[in-house]
Amino acid sequence: MSMNRRQFLKLASASTILGVGAASVINNISNGSLEAAQIHPDPRALKAKRWGFVVDVSKLTTDEDYQKCIDACHDIHNVPNNPNPRHEVKWIWKDTYEHTFPNTAEDKIMNRELQEKNFLLFCNHCQNPACVRVCPTKATFKRESDGIVMQDMHRCIGCRFCMAACPFGARSFNYTDPRPNIKVENKEFPTRMIGVVEKCTACYERLAVGKQPACAEKSNGAIVFGDLEDPNSEVRKLITEKYTIRRKPELGTQPSIYYVIGGGEHA
Ligand code: SF4
Ligand code: SF4
Repeated sequence: MSMNRRQFLKLASASTILGVGAASVINNISNGSLEAAQIHPDPRALKAKRWGFVVDVSKLTTDEDYQKCIDACHDIHNVPNNPNPRHEVKWIWKDTYEHTFPNTAEDKIMNRELQEKNFLLFCNHCQNPACVRVCPTKATFKRESDGIVMQDMHRCIGCRFCMAACPFGARSFNYTDPRPNIKVENKEFPTRMIGVVEKCTACYERLAVGKQPACAEKSNGAIVFGDLEDPNSEVRKLITEKYTIRRKPELGTQPSIYYVIGGGEHA
């Protein structure tokens, strides 16, 4: 079965709408066996009105705890380990409190112990994403069904407007061919090319088959994932019970990641 680029894009978009992983579409294309029945949604697929995360780094005690989350993501998504630090590609990474919350770093009422810790950072899947507004080809777009901010590597023309627009540094550019820098390729997930931007896509391919995001699964409870619109979800309960903050709220992007910085109720 041959398939041109236009047909491929149509199918990839159908897979997004139906909640089918792009990898499965690509595998089926390469097997020459793609049929309409194979793009029906998996009954195990996890669904939400708006996916979000609550991150409690007090549950990460060693460097290894952080690294497990980072490796879990980067290994399954074929994120290259570029030896040139200026060309680093990252979907999830750690950084200091000061860099994570620059506007509150001087706040003396914050939990001092937490201010000494590193935070796990990744795309915030903003409700009002600055990156989406500036993309000239709609390579990045927000799924209306569940709020995930996607990145279609096939439509990306490498202009990097999205990188300039994102205030969280959540996007990376492939300055070199990423493939030689992948330790062990996961054949179930697509690799990228030189000249395209990439980022966390909330493990949409895992959600489509009923699995939690890989980082959450390896986080020892530090990353909780769930539906922010469901008042009975664990994320909503945590946000109600704990003192949480989001990154740079003053910019109005409305991040979907909440960081726990205290045990008490909201003021
Ligand atoms: S964190 Fe950046 S890349 Fe992610 S949705 Fe928000 S603006 Fe876009
Ligand atoms: S949600 Fe998935 S893609 Fe995003 S940082 Fe976590 S493991 Fe990586």
